[in-house]
Order: sequence, then C-alpha cells, then structure tokens
Amino acid sequence: MICASLTSPTMDAALADMERASELADIIEVRFDYIHSPAVRPFVERRIKPIIATNRPAREGGNYKGDEENRIALLREAAAAGFDYIDIEMDSVDRLGGAGASKVIVSYHNFEKTPDDLEAIHKQLVAAGADIAKLAVMANDIRDTLRIFDLLRGAGAPTIGLCMGEEGVITRILGPRFGSFLSFGALADGKQSAPGQIPIRDMRELYRVNEINADTKLYGVIANPVAHSMSPAIHNAAFREKGINAVYLPLKVADVRRFVTEFRKLDMQGYSVTIPHKVDVIAVMDEVDQFVKDIGAMNTVVNRGGRLHGYNTDCLGALRAIESVMGGDEPLRGRRVVMLGAGGTSRAIGYGVKARGGKLIILNRTVAKAEKLAGEIGCDWGPMDRLPELTFDVLVNTTSVGMHPNVDETPAPADVLKKGMVVFDAVYNPMETRLLREAAERGCVTVSGVDMFVNQAASQFEMWTDTDAPVEVMRNVVIERLRGH
Ligand code: NAP
Repeated sequence: MICASLTSPTMDAALADMERASELADIIEVRFDYIHSPAVRPFVERRIKPIIATNRPAREGGNYKGDEENRIALLREAAAAGFDYIDIEMDSVDRLGGAGASKVIVSYHNFEKTPDDLEAIHKQLVAAGADIAKLAVMANDIRDTLRIFDLLRGAGAPTIGLCMGEEGVITRILGPRFGSFLSFGALADGKQSAPGQIPIRDMRELYRVNEINADTKLYGVIANPVAHSMSPAIHNAAFREKGINAVYLPLKVADVRRFVTEFRKLDMQGYSVTIPHKVDVIAVMDEVDQFVKDIGAMNTVVNRGGRLHGYNTDCLGALRAIESVMGGDEPLRGRRVVMLGAGGTSRAIGYGVKARGGKLIILNRTVAKAEKLAGEIGCDWGPMDRLPELTFDVLVNTTSVGMHPNVDETPAPADVLKKGMVVFDAVYNPMETRLLREAAERGCVTVSGVDMFVNQAASQFEMWTDTDAPVEVMRNVVIERLRGH
C-alpha cells in the first residue's frame, strides 16, 4: 500500500491535499504537527481513503513543539472521531490510554542511524500494544537497508519498516515486497515529511510499488550521486512497456565492492554501473567480457544463475548508434575514423571501433594522453590541430567541448565537415550540439549523444531480458528529461 504523508500548513490546504492524494495513494497520513490550528473532524467527514492521525513531536523528527498533554489529546480526539489509524511514538503509548476502534501504529524513529538492535526495538513496539509496529531509521550506507528487509521478512506481526535518507530510498520501493504494511510517499517533490520520501506519483507509475511481488525481478543503477540519473526513468518505462515484472532502483553506493558482495543475497538480476564505480566494480565480477578487459571499465552487470558477468555497453551503445546510420554488414571495417578526445568515453569507443575493423586516429588536446591511449589500442594519434589535414569517413567527438553551458563551442572547425561524412557527438546535453548542427548544414549524417545513451541502455535491457528493447519509448523518456532541464 502507498501512503501519502501530508505536510500541508493549513486546514484548507490539508483537506485539498487529502483529496488530491486520494487519487494515487491507498491510505493518507495527516501530519497534524504541520497544520496550524488543526481540527480532526473535517478529515473524517471528507475522507475518501483510510486515514492515519499523526502528531509528531520535535524529539521524534516532527514539527510539534507545544504541550505534551495537548499533543496526545488531539490523537485521542482523532480516534474518537473515527480516524482509521492513530500513530503514537513508543515512549508515549502509555499516555494515549487506548484508541477505541482505531488501530494503533506504535512508532520508533532514529534520524541518526540504523541501530544494531532493530529486532529488540521491534519486539518492544509489539509488546507496547501495536496493531502495527513502525520503525523508521536513517541509512548511512545502502547496506543498512538489508537489515530492514531482514527485519520485515521475519517480523511475524504487521510492521512498517523503512530506511530514511537517499541511501534508504529502496526500502520505500521494496518495503511492501518484504512485508511492510505500507510505504510512505510525498504528495510532490519538496513536500517530503521525512528524508528520502518519493513522490506518490513516481511510487505508483514509475516504480509500480503496488505491483511489486515476490516474483518481481530487481535491477538498479549503482552510482554516487544517483539522484540525477535518468536510468530509473528509462528502464522502468521499458519494463512497463514490455509488461515485464521487474523494477529498476536508484542505488546510492559508497563502496561498490562491499555493496555488490553483500547485495548478492537480494539476488539482483542486473545493474547499470556509473560514476565513480566503473573501474572498481570489475574486481567483484565472476566473469568479464573481453571489451571490459581491454577498456578497463564496465557499466553493466548481468546475473546469470548467481554468477555476475560484467560488460561495457557504453562501447556497444556508441557502435550501435554509429553503425545504424551506415548500413551494410560490417559498416566500420576499413573506414577512416577520427576520434577527438582521449578520456574514458574515448577509451570505450576506441576499442570498439578498432575491434570492428575501423582505421582509427585519436586526436587530443593533451597529446601525451592521445599517444598513451593510441599505444594501448594500437592506432594512430596526434594533436587536435592535425584535424584539417586528415581525410576521414567518420568523426567521433568524445571531448566535452560544446556541452552545456558552453553550447557555442565546437571541437572541430566547420570546414572539415564534408557531405556524406558520419559525425557523432557523445555530448547529449544539448541534444543538438554546435558540431552536429554545423555537420547537418553541410550534408553530413549526424548521430547524437542521445542515440549513444539510449542504445547503451537498450543493450543493457536486452542482455537482462533477452527481448528487444522498446527503443522509442526509452528515447522519449530521455528527450523528455533533457527538455525538462
Ligand atoms: P573525460 O574522461 O574527462 O575526458 C574528457 C575529454 O575531453 C579529454 O580528452 C579532454 O582533453 C577533452 N577536453 C575537455 N575540455 C576540452 C577543451 N576545452 N578542449 C579540448 N578538449 C577538451 O570525460 P568522458 O567521461 O570521456 O566524457 C566526455 C564527454 O562524453 C562528456 O561530454 C560526456 O557527457 C559524454 N558522454 C556521453 C555518453 C553518452 O551516452 N552519450 C556517455 C559517456 C560520456 P584533455 O585530455 O586534454 O583534458
């Protein structure tokens, strides 16, 4: 069940928000500690979904700073008026003195950490007379969430369990799968009543929390930071489009090796891996693909029967994007490819171009880096100003030149761009860089960084599911997100 936690400051706003939230949530928590001059009866009279009364004191992370007797009196009044649930903190339950026909949620909050004695605290909540026990604790590392999942699995009594904070977000998505009675969400971004809450629309439509069950396959993106990642939107839209029972999670990970090792117990079926973990993660794979060995970086994990296989779909995504506009069986074989840049992306694409039989030249601002990379890949190299003297079929930009906010910059003078050439720019923000605009004006065939981004995600999807990726759906998500920036 999805529960919308309301943080509205006035009665009018709270009643309007309750109505709005009832369209998406299964149950509504009225946070009386946020409401100025609160009254209980209007909520009971206008409720559409079951309602929880909460009047959280500041000592447990709430907004209520007044007299303790008045705080509890409001909860008694809410019970008498017919609220479905009353939330009372463990240290105040004795003072409530019963809640009539309302069910009692006895709650424990810890805004500092996930304590070692979770099970003992849970026992105390149940012993205190909880119809539902609630534990909301802070995750300081994503591995803390495993302890909440263990607690929920073995709870043996109705329990709400969650980790707060960005590292705890997955407990809000997967809690019900492990038996949590409900999962709290915010009415909208910026209206969170606790750190890490997800908007209820995302819980229902993006993560499909209410459809998650024991058979739901788990995937996610390992990153730090992770909040900006477009991958959850892309992959969840793809799973939904294909009717696949799977969910893709944002995983904020500090120590990738310990994370991957300890999360084997959740039997995650696959991961995307991004900054800063693309190199370190290799050490905890059971097997890695040859490209990963060559490139020294990976971005995809596929779980095959408990064994973790590592791949690099940045490379595959770029090749797929470039080759799709060229035609033929081996479109890059024998073609002269100039690649600008000698960083991480250049490395991934360079090995791919070489493996496909392209005649590669790497040009870079820092020439020594071009020389080093070219030495490893086995290709020609030079400074950027060598570009005008070269004859080539494909130009690949892997520098960050032209990227937002420096959108007036370009890594290649327009007069090197000739009709019929293929010009690919790894930069995807903006979607059409100055390089691509000038290339199109001169009759080149252009391939954008969006194509690479979508194709690397599509390659991951296909490895995980053995079905064709819904590429257009995935592309639309990326475009929508980029336009929203
Ligand atoms: P990186 O490892 O930091 O490499 C950056 C490259 O850009 C280096 O070769 C650097 O040259 C060059 N460069 C930076 N500023 C320059 C300037 N003012 N003039 C000339 N060269 C300059 O970065 P990366 O991870 O490879 O990323 C490169 C670009 O690819 C970024 O824009 C990124 O967003 C994009 N990208 C796109 C996708 C996708 O899916 N479309 C995926 C990954 C990356 P020096 O060696 O001289 O510093």
